[in-house]
Amino acid sequence: MNKLLTDTELSLLQRTLQTANKVLVTCHTNPDGDALGSMTCMMSVLRRMGKEVVAVAPDRWPDNLNWLPLMSDVKQYLRHEEEVKEAAKDVDLVLMLDHGRIDRMAELGEFVRTLDVPRIVMDHHPEPEEGPVLTICHPTLCAGAEVVYRVLDDMGEADKLTHDEAVSIYCGMMTDTGGFTFNSTRPEVYVIISRLLEKGIDKDRIYRNVFYTSSADRYRLLGYLLYVKMELLHEYHTSIITFSNAERKQFKIKNGETDGIVNYPLMIDKMRLSIFLREDTEKKGVIRVSLRSVDDFPCNEMSAEFFNGGGHKNASGGRLTCTMEEAVETVKRAVKKFADKLKD
Ligand code: 5GP
Ligand code: MN
Repeated sequence: MNKLLTDTELSLLQRTLQTANKVLVTCHTNPDGDALGSMTCMMSVLRRMGKEVVAVAPDRWPDNLNWLPLMSDVKQYLRHEEEVKEAAKDVDLVLMLDHGRIDRMAELGEFVRTLDVPRIVMDHHPEPEEGPVLTICHPTLCAGAEVVYRVLDDMGEADKLTHDEAVSIYCGMMTDTGGFTFNSTRPEVYVIISRLLEKGIDKDRIYRNVFYTSSADRYRLLGYLLYVKMELLHEYHTSIITFSNAERKQFKIKNGETDGIVNYPLMIDKMRLSIFLREDTEKKGVIRVSLRSVDDFPCNEMSAEFFNGGGHKNASGGRLTCTMEEAVETVKRAVKKFADKLKD
């Protein structure tokens, strides 16, 4: 496999890691399998290197990721703010995984800004910010976990990966590619999978742990959203689904349980763009926006222009401060603006 890092990057990384004793490892808000897989792998690797590690996610993650190795050591910032501030006050390095901007950590980011220590980024999102001593960001890679694996490979550490570290990497790559159904056609992806399998991981079990552990309520909600709530703008090959907190209560849906629902409309023939709008559970008046597309439609450009967000070409997110009706109007304006890329 080709090297990901230049010689300069590799020696800077090695020097920075060598001098660090205590590392704060972070990920983005709404942590997903990639964010937490990247984190739990690096927590373990850094500990094997003799470092003390404080691992913090900005907010809550879905229950179907609790089985990942070392998750009991990951702190949730919104729930344990004071405890995290105390534990992390003497860190000498911050390692940002699966995100390249401090503002992707929300409130945790405000705390990180107060730390006067170097930061390293390992990520695959476009447009990381200036500031870290080293930013290893490759948007063509399928997952933050692939970036982590490739960096470890360049450091000569990949062969030393433990079974559990391999599980974490696989989980990250699998979830960010929808089980290797999108953004996953580069041969390197399968070279890595093959090497992870040699570590003894059970990929089928990892798949079931993540995708076959839904509550019955979530599937009833899915039926309802597709049957009652999905609006198809056929002319634009676009679908809109809205989801309110009243419906969340009615169907007994927890945070994270709506992840993935945005993908379903793309299974309808000729659909190019799917937009899922949901009321934020914490912040009143905020609508969270998820966008997914196929082929060349740039969700991230639409998200940046209309939804205060960004992300990848085929998967991005954002937020609006308005009512659900206004959010739907904004979506319809966005779709019209991008009509040339959506219509036949
Ligand atoms: P989701 O729909 O799962 O919330 O987000 C999909 C993708 O878009 C994820 O890769 C996520 O990191 C990215 N994303 C979500 N919200 C934002 C945002 O506000 N800004 C940026 N830059 N990316 C986002
Ligand atoms: Mn990711």
